[in-house]
Amino acid sequence: MAIKNKYKIERKYINNSYARSREFIDDVRFLVAHETDNDTADADDHYRYFNGINFYASAHTFIDDDKILEIIPLNEKAWHVNYDKPKDNQLYGDDANDCAIGTELCRTGNFKKSYDRYVWYFAYLCHKFGLNPQHNIVSHKVLDPGRRFDPQSWLEPNGVSWNEFINDVQRYYDNWNGKVVDRDEQVKSEEIVWYLSRGDHNRLVGDLQRKLKKLGYYDGKIDNNFGPKTESAVKAFQKHEGLIQDGSYGPKTQAVMKNAKSKKKNKIGPSVIPYPGYHFELRSPQMHDDNVGRIQRALNNAAGHKVVEVDNYYGPNTANEVGEYQERHDLEPDKMVGPITWSTLF
Ligand SMILES: [Zn+2]
Repeated sequence: MAIKNKYKIERKYINNSYARSREFIDDVRFLVAHETDNDTADADDHYRYFNGINFYASAHTFIDDDKILEIIPLNEKAWHVNYDKPKDNQLYGDDANDCAIGTELCRTGNFKKSYDRYVWYFAYLCHKFGLNPQHNIVSHKVLDPGRRFDPQSWLEPNGVSWNEFINDVQRYYDNWNGKVVDRDEQVKSEEIVWYLSRGDHNRLVGDLQRKLKKLGYYDGKIDNNFGPKTESAVKAFQKHEGLIQDGSYGPKTQAVMKNAKSKKKNKIGPSVIPYPGYHFELRSPQMHDDNVGRIQRALNNAAGHKVVEVDNYYGPNTANEVGEYQERHDLEPDKMVGPITWSTLF
C-alpha cells in the first residue's frame, strides 16, 4: 500500500451557523496545528459538540486513534485562531481563520495511532495545497503566545518535540508514493545492542530518554544528551527492576526495559485532578498559578462557552464565575475554590 492511501478521511460536516461560517477561503496559505486539551472527547464527540454550540469557534478536522474527521469543508473558513493576534499576519500576511486549515489532535485513545494519523494528514494537506512542511505549518502556541500552548501541550508529554513532528510530516510528504513500512516491524529487524552512558550525545540517547519518560522515570527534555538527569533516571529504573545501579545503559538494562511496564498508573475513565491543597480566592496581589488556569478552563467547559479568560490569574471575573458555578451546583457561593468546589469542578 502506498503511504498516500494509508488512511481514509471521513467527511461529516456540521450544520451550525455559528461554528460553520460558509464563508470561502480563497487560497490556503498555511496550516495550524492544534490539540483539543480534552482528555475524554474523541473526534465524533467534537463533531457533536461543534454542531450544537452558539458561539464562533471551530476547526476543520479532528483526529483520534480511529479516524480523521473533517467537520468543515476545507474551502470554508473555520474559527480556530483569535483574530486579534498579530502573529499570523506577520508570518503569512493574513489572519489564520481566513487562509489556514485548522487541525486538532484528540487526546483520547492510543497516542501513537492518533499521532500517526495527524502526521499523515498534515502531509496530505501539504500535497493538496502545495505547501512546504518546513515553512507552512505553525502551532497555535506560536500564533497566540502566552494564552495557547497547543499542540506542544500534548505532543511533548508524549515525547514528541515540535521539530520531530515537522520532520515526521516531511518524511511522509517525501515518501508520499512510497510503500507503508510498519514502524514496529522495522524496529524489530534493526534491533541492535548498544551502550550508552553519561557524556554520550546522540539520537539513541533521545530514544532512551523517550523510553524512560514513557515509563515514568524521566521528566526532562528529549535533548539527546546523556547528562545527570538521564543518569539518575536510568538508576531509578535499575533500582526499581533490581538491576545493578550503575546508571549506564547496556544490554541487561536494555533487555529488561524492553518488557518493562510503566510506573505510572493507567488512566481509566475520567481523569480526577487531585486538589492542590490551598484555597483559591480573590486577593491582592492576585494568585497566579497553573491551577487557576485549570479552574478557568473547567468553568468555561461547565458553562458550555467562554465565560472567563484562561490567564491563570484568580481575578474578580474568575471569582464571580466561581460564585455562579457554586450557585448552580448548590454549593456555598463563597467565590472561593476549596476542596469541595474543586472536586465538583473536576
Ligand atoms: Zn488550538
